[in-house]
Amino acid sequence: MASNPSNVNAVVVVGGGFAGLTTALALSCCQPRPPIVLVEPHSRFVFLPLLYELLSAELQAWEVAPPYHSLLCERGIAHLQDRVESIDTKAKTLITSSGITLSYSQLVLSTGSVPTDFNIQGVLEHALMFRDLDDVQVLRQRIRELQLSRDPQQALVIVGAGPTGVELACKLADLLNGAAELHLIELGERVLPNAKAFNQEEAEKALNKRGIHIHLCTKVLAISANQVEFESKQKTHSLISPITHRGLIWTAGTRAVLPEFGPDFVLTGARLPINSCLEVIGLNHVLGIGDVAFNDDHCWPSTAQVALQQGEAAAQNVMALRAGKAPNPFEFKDLGEMLSLGIGEASITGMGFTLAGSLAFQMRRVAYLTKLPGLSLGLRSASTWLLGH
Ligand SMILES: Cc1cc2nc3c(=O)[nH]c(=O)nc-3n(C[C@H](O)[C@H](O)[C@H](O)COP(=O)(O)OP(=O)(O)OC[C@H]3O[C@@H](n4cnc5c(N)ncnc54)[C@H](O)[C@@H]3O)c2cc1C
Repeated sequence: MASNPSNVNAVVVVGGGFAGLTTALALSCCQPRPPIVLVEPHSRFVFLPLLYELLSAELQAWEVAPPYHSLLCERGIAHLQDRVESIDTKAKTLITSSGITLSYSQLVLSTGSVPTDFNIQGVLEHALMFRDLDDVQVLRQRIRELQLSRDPQQALVIVGAGPTGVELACKLADLLNGAAELHLIELGERVLPNAKAFNQEEAEKALNKRGIHIHLCTKVLAISANQVEFESKQKTHSLISPITHRGLIWTAGTRAVLPEFGPDFVLTGARLPINSCLEVIGLNHVLGIGDVAFNDDHCWPSTAQVALQQGEAAAQNVMALRAGKAPNPFEFKDLGEMLSLGIGEASITGMGFTLAGSLAFQMRRVAYLTKLPGLSLGLRSASTWLLGH
């Protein structure tokens, strides 16, 4: 299909997660405003850090997952609800799943990441994920079933004790309220291996207080519909009796999602290599941001915080490139770390203070709400929370 000539001057942003949506919204505030196309297959933006609160019904879907049309209306951003399949970096075009060819002047790649199974047997077939609205529905249904049968022997297993695994375990323990055992399996020696010390300690307290069984230094070998097999790395690779489960949630790792490239760009690694100005190394006028990108000199973590800040910086750098100026290096400002630790509890480390408990929970909610793209929605949600709880 011929490319659409009306797009040749456009900035095309691929992926409307934290990084891409922030870029598109920031570009829409620039003068002169460039033509902006956001290619994103979903109809709703999902604010992932608040997915636990959606699971527990502390928040509603309209608060956690606003539709793109409400976020983009009157911003001069065209939302193409489609998936990019391939990019021709020589012709500066991309092709979508429905066969549309788009031309771009500048391209921002922010296609994020998805869970990876590390080729462990049975994960794709039998594990539940926790990443989108459908996953929340499936898990809610499973919780209802466990609550109805109320057999204390029945178990729910979470694999991966990073932030998602730990936050989910605490929320599930509160929701299940003794209706099932909870097991948290982690390959490392401690939960939250990369977290700030205060949050790590608070998380350990929160997990222990809820009676969650923590299996550290433990590697999952295979999963079936109702069993998980694993081995201990501590006891010289000894096999442990499998756990019989009524549901296993996989939060053990992610991999970057990337379209195909051609003909003059070969991707050698698993993620997009970018320089300190967020430009994809080897490509002109193409930026890579968020979970999909990596920079050799900076260990920017794969977080919403980094994605948001890179989105702002990417918009500035796109405008610089359009004006024929040099882009600026990206500087990450670590604003701290917040963890949801069950219903009504959280832990915060950052900006010179640490805080745990219900006040931290309220602060976390308000902090995230003000980050919600489209401030009017955020303010509405903030008042719901502040007045309603
Ligand atoms: C449950 C959960 C809780 C989290 N909590 C926190 C937290 O508390 N704090 C924090 O900092 N981080 C948190 N994270 C991590 C954070 O959400 C990610 O780091 C962040 O979403 C990365 O943003 P991104 O824009 O790079 O990618 P994503 O948010 O993954 O967005 C990528 C987008 O690209 C789209 N896309 C993919 N492929 C294509 C394609 N080919 N064409 C078009 N579009 C495409 C996808 O549909 C998606 O909308 C959490 C993650 C999860 C799963």
